[in-house]
Amino acid sequence: MRSENSIAAAVKRHNSDPLYLVQIIREAQAAEGWLSRETQGEIAERLKIPITRVESVVKFYSFFYDKPRGAYRLLISDNITDRMQGSLSLFERLLGRFGVKRGEVSADGLVSVDLTSCTGLCDQGPGMLVNNIAVPRLSEARIDAIADLIEARTPLGHWPAEFFHVEDNVRRAGPLLQAPMTPGRALDAAIALGRQGVLDEMKRSNLRGRGGAGFATGLKWEAARNAPGADRYIVCNADEGEPGTFKDRVLLTSHPGRIFEGMAIAGYAIGATRGFLYLRGEYEYLKPRLDAELDRMRLVRRLGPAIRGCAGFDFDVEIHVGAGAYVCGEETALLESIEGKPGRPRVRPPFPATHGYLGRPTAINNVETLCQATEVAINGGAAFAGQGTKHSTGSKILSVSGDCERPGLYEYSFGVPIAQVLEDAGAARDVAAVQVSGPAGVLMTPDQFTRRIAFEDVPTTGAFMVFGGQRDLFEVARNFVHFFAHESCGFCTPCRVGTSLQRQMVEKIAEGRGSRYEINELMRVRGLMRRMSHCGLGQMAGNAIFDGWSKFRPAFERRLLAAEFAPAIDLDAALSPARAVTGREDERAHFHAEA
Ligand code: SF4
Repeated sequence: MRSENSIAAAVKRHNSDPLYLVQIIREAQAAEGWLSRETQGEIAERLKIPITRVESVVKFYSFFYDKPRGAYRLLISDNITDRMQGSLSLFERLLGRFGVKRGEVSADGLVSVDLTSCTGLCDQGPGMLVNNIAVPRLSEARIDAIADLIEARTPLGHWPAEFFHVEDNVRRAGPLLQAPMTPGRALDAAIALGRQGVLDEMKRSNLRGRGGAGFATGLKWEAARNAPGADRYIVCNADEGEPGTFKDRVLLTSHPGRIFEGMAIAGYAIGATRGFLYLRGEYEYLKPRLDAELDRMRLVRRLGPAIRGCAGFDFDVEIHVGAGAYVCGEETALLESIEGKPGRPRVRPPFPATHGYLGRPTAINNVETLCQATEVAINGGAAFAGQGTKHSTGSKILSVSGDCERPGLYEYSFGVPIAQVLEDAGAARDVAAVQVSGPAGVLMTPDQFTRRIAFEDVPTTGAFMVFGGQRDLFEVARNFVHFFAHESCGFCTPCRVGTSLQRQMVEKIAEGRGSRYEINELMRVRGLMRRMSHCGLGQMAGNAIFDGWSKFRPAFERRLLAAEFAPAIDLDAALSPARAVTGREDERAHFHAEA
């Protein structure tokens, strides 16, 4: 039954401010189960905005539902490493157990089962989300136990706690992971340096962004500080959506104080008093823990007014939760989402450092970058620059998953060879390839394992997926192609159409109806997307096919069974309904390609 109070409460919690539309919709859905037209209408009415604005947000995010969903919503991770651990057969098992099709709600409204993009549990997969709460280490036994609990309508709070226990799996610790930082230490160090001193040390450290682009953090902060305008903002990008990456999950779980101190230091350096942490929807289950840490820090003046007693050092953080849109990892799409809109990337320039949140100067940094900033504050820029390589200073956390004995987090100084990581993770033998940096990254083959993880050699966001010799690299590329087609935001034609064409052609090849024509077309489409797409998602969406074809050609060639181009659809089969309507099944009613 609809509860008007829950919608009113969600709107009130956010001061009836449409900037919080994504959060209000999320909270309304949590209370109502789904977003009926009446619910959307009431949100619009209470916020005094057109209902079309609410609808556009609901339609954009894959975790918002404008049709009923089961009381238990099960989303199995469809990341390739989960597939390698049997996720699809577990998915089928669930569908069979409840007698539903993918995405359907059971007749009694009890359950719905679907696939979703990577849930950030690759080190302990297969993983899934049950009503947005992570359940790792799925097995047939666990799936059956979960189905029993659901059939008995057992509330999630009464499920065995071990079902929800997510391990940190820190296998190799460096400066960030070895121990929790002494609370307040980085803040004290920053205050001792002073605002300009912090900026100077950041520049001296040559700390580069860990989110992928590798832009110099000190320069970014300086640009935001020098940009005209009174209000400035800090944004922590915790939208860790790259399949195969889970390092931010661990930092958010076990080192939240370090992240928030890093945000406060950034605020101190550029003169910002407000910060946002944008948490990916798949990590919503971490929000209570993060909120509790924020409360603790406010109590002891590590956040709030006059931090650590320093007059004028005022800074606080609020958490915005995403709703299942990979593209929101792109910083301007993320800003749109924080402003309560669909997360479509903005045209750049201008860049967020000068025109960010609400068009004001904004420094956006990745979770890991902000943690590294605390290291710079404590030990100084020169000490930080002394680790790693000349152009890649400090340490880097790698999320290692796939065919290895010890999946988990490995923190190294930059410059570590790929072979070293493989050996440490127990994957030194029979490795066919490593996908560095997720589907948008690069596929490395054994002849390249002497290459080093560094911005000047093999840059990475942190994903490090290992594929053993038994793996079919066509299937890996196929999974990545589906991922991009699903995650394209649809804003620009090259990506919207290109990712969809890629998916069609790869499926045709998988069905044995592909030829060299499709391969040539895939390469042509990849070139178009690289040149013409609006943001990095479209620009990188063809990498997986290009790498797969270049480096694992036999896996593709054995599927190219058609000698030449074959139509993508079976026209005769498509005409079947028309024949049924007209009652004709004679020879002349059939389509023959050679006719
Ligand atoms: Fe959206 Fe893709 Fe265009 Fe990026 S490249 S704006 S994800 S359609």
